[in-house]
Amino acid sequence: MDRTRDIAIEVVPDAAAAAPGTASARAPAAASAPSPAKAADGRTNIFDLDRPALERFFEEGLGEKKFRAHQVMKWIHHRYATDFNDMTDLGKALRAKLEERAVVHAPTAMFDKASADGTHKWLLGMDPKNAIETVYIPDKGRGTLCVSSQVGCALNCTFCSTATQGFNRNLSTAEIIGQVWVAARHLGNVPHQQRRLTNVVMMGMGEPLANFDNVVRAMSIMRDDLGYGLANKRVTLSTAGMVPMIDRLAAESDVSLAVSLHAPFDDLRDTLVPLNRKYPIAELMDACVRYALRRKGESVTFEYTLMKGVNDQPEHARALVGLMRDFDRRVQMKDAAKVNLIPFNPFPGTRFERPGDDAIRAFQKQLNNAGMIAPVRRTRGDDIDAACGQLKGQVMDRTRRQAEFRRSLQAGGGDAAA
Ligand code: SAH
Repeated sequence: MDRTRDIAIEVVPDAAAAAPGTASARAPAAASAPSPAKAADGRTNIFDLDRPALERFFEEGLGEKKFRAHQVMKWIHHRYATDFNDMTDLGKALRAKLEERAVVHAPTAMFDKASADGTHKWLLGMDPKNAIETVYIPDKGRGTLCVSSQVGCALNCTFCSTATQGFNRNLSTAEIIGQVWVAARHLGNVPHQQRRLTNVVMMGMGEPLANFDNVVRAMSIMRDDLGYGLANKRVTLSTAGMVPMIDRLAAESDVSLAVSLHAPFDDLRDTLVPLNRKYPIAELMDACVRYALRRKGESVTFEYTLMKGVNDQPEHARALVGLMRDFDRRVQMKDAAKVNLIPFNPFPGTRFERPGDDAIRAFQKQLNNAGMIAPVRRTRGDDIDAACGQLKGQVMDRTRRQAEFRRSLQAGGGDAAA
């Protein structure tokens, strides 16, 4: 098939590229972590710095010893302090110097809501115009936080409600790790001791690989012992399939990978995940194989949102099994590919529907019969619109996609993005 490779997919550059000159000349370490969240007065937001950057900030920026950086990280991420004056094992002079050069600025919770099933959702204000959502999902023996990487999303997947609101900007490192901080503090999480927060999934709003540097830096704080101490495999990045960035991730990080597949055929996937026109399934699977081969012994998760009459038929299950078997064979590991079935979560105006329970079970059974484990992700936080694809912060919609979507609803056209 003649595949067009030049469709307009807005891949948003990292904040670093988008905002040249925002790095402070006063703090060398900040040069590696420019951020739109930097305090207006030019002070460095400590939340923007991972351990190496914070060590540099202390050594080169403040002329202090490295271990001071470690103390500060513990105060912030283990004890939730944001005021340098509370950091009592730092000398008075250092506290004053920090006050002058830095801030510890977390996102503000505009509201938070608890669901009957224990799911908790926060609406976090990132700046006066933008808010995003973060969701905590407790389950037997674990607590997973679903974290956003962008305000809105530029990828325009036709079955995702975030897509209908357009895209505004990337989140900074501080704004990403700040989501973890807000939730961990609320939960009374104590890393290494009382873990309420055991897993993070980059599955909230946005495409994390389109905001690569900030996401990778935030994930490094999640996995740092001085941060949230999560094992590599407990931090999962989910992507719609940005192939070159999957390779970059393999080279620069070591987290679990989840890929939003949703269809085993290119013509169908083209309509659900437009990014497929740029990086079709074969290329995506090649990148996943390369990723898995670098992380020997670890699986890759393939997310498959089941939509009634669209991708839930026996031929889809059969082709999906074929793709997954081929993946296992190439990685030379049984169950190297894990499938996660997500029943579609409806939102106002969408033309898609969730299949009935029987259809979901039949699809799952077909995968099970082929020897694959394919859990159906239970819908959580339904009553507070916290389920997959329902996260919808407030976005100043520069792409005007929301207006377009509303117009099409009025015209009775269903999904504008289709
Ligand atoms: N951009 C990333 C991460 C965000 S979406 C990605 O595409 O992977 C997190 C998961 O929820 C993805 O698998 C996405 O396809 C799925 N999803 C989006 N909208 C959904 C909906 N309405 N119902 C069920 N799953 C949905």
